[in-house]
Amino acid sequence: MSATLARHDPDCIFCKIIAGQIPSKKVYEDEELFAFHDIHPAAPVHFMIVPKAHIPSLAQATEADGALLGRIMLLAPKLALEQGCNPYPEGGFRVMVNTGAEGGQEVHHLHVHVMGGKRPWSRG
Ligand code: C5P
Repeated sequence: MSATLARHDPDCIFCKIIAGQIPSKKVYEDEELFAFHDIHPAAPVHFMIVPKAHIPSLAQATEADGALLGRIMLLAPKLALEQGCNPYPEGGFRVMVNTGAEGGQEVHHLHVHVMGGKRPWSRG
């Protein structure tokens, strides 16, 4: 097992989803990343991209995670189109990373929300 995949928290709900212990509607998977539909979608298209490594939040990401974070950002537009978001610039999508209690983070495994589709829709 690589050093990245060794970062695993058996009590984390997203680690369990990644491991297939909790079902999810998978959008994408590779060695480092996993993407799945949000169980409570806040937009017509709403999925999350997560690193398989258990990084609790963006606040715990380090320089060593830079390439991983870059891969997530480059994957977002590709998956957004595949999942039905309309093309930029008339369409597009929103990327959101809730971080910490005051940032509205509920699940403490770094995740990047990707939301799009025809408006109106919003997330409070
Ligand atoms: O950014 P935040 O931590 O608030 O978002 C967590 C997200 O994870 C929520 O939008 C929630 O609907 C989603 N979730 C999910 N499947 C679960 C548990 C939470 O899609 N089993």
